[in-house]
Amino acid sequence: MEKQVRGSAPGLCWGKSIHFANAIDVIAQFGEFVIDWQDGLPVGVNRNLNLELRTRLLRKKEEREGSVLLIHWGYGIGSSYALNGSVIESSIGSFGEFGHWTVDPLSMRQCHCGESGCLETIASLWSLLPELRTIYPVVPSEETAFEAFTRENDISELPMIERAVDAFALSLANLNKAVFADRIVLTGPFVNIPSVLKRLESRFFQHLPHYAHGKYQMYVATLGAFDITQGCVMPFFEERMRTIFTAHDEAR
Ligand SMILES: [Zn+2]
Repeated sequence: MEKQVRGSAPGLCWGKSIHFANAIDVIAQFGEFVIDWQDGLPVGVNRNLNLELRTRLLRKKEEREGSVLLIHWGYGIGSSYALNGSVIESSIGSFGEFGHWTVDPLSMRQCHCGESGCLETIASLWSLLPELRTIYPVVPSEETAFEAFTRENDISELPMIERAVDAFALSLANLNKAVFADRIVLTGPFVNIPSVLKRLESRFFQHLPHYAHGKYQMYVATLGAFDITQGCVMPFFEERMRTIFTAHDEAR
């Protein structure tokens, strides 16, 4: 009988509830539901970005030195942060809650988190889809498909996209002022649109204090297909290896 279960699924984590409702298509097909667990079965709740960064740090020796801010800009918007090889988490697992910073306090646009006026309501793919589909009726909601769509269709000069980039850049600059990361690693379909990335870099630099010029690297990365899964199971193996390697010491 397994005493521990580890798995991975897209969703939203609030306290002890996991809502598997990360994609509109999933909601439409399955509806939103919540899992609950029996007492006695250990259940770990991790944010995907933290797991991706944990795995990435294994691969990237240079990123284990200093600080790394991992940013995802796609269907949702999120952030993760590591200092000297350790992913920093709060008591509820989140760092930054970048996508849910209030950027438009007067906005009535409801966010997935329950608040309104969040960065996601302006710049995330889920919030842009309805307006994008008035121009391109078949814009996909899945990130890889959306990235392919943007290679065929130049959306970068649409006013809604420029507004999204500007809001994203300002929020990223403010987040960076809290940590002044040595490396800012960008992932997701939007930063893979060359003209969007160029505008983002330019706006970000404009918001940067002069003393930070030249003190950081910002680049686009593609995360591995199994980064989340590997990051998820890594503590399990670390714990087992620790037990194996210390068993001899304890026996003495
Ligand atoms: Zn929100």
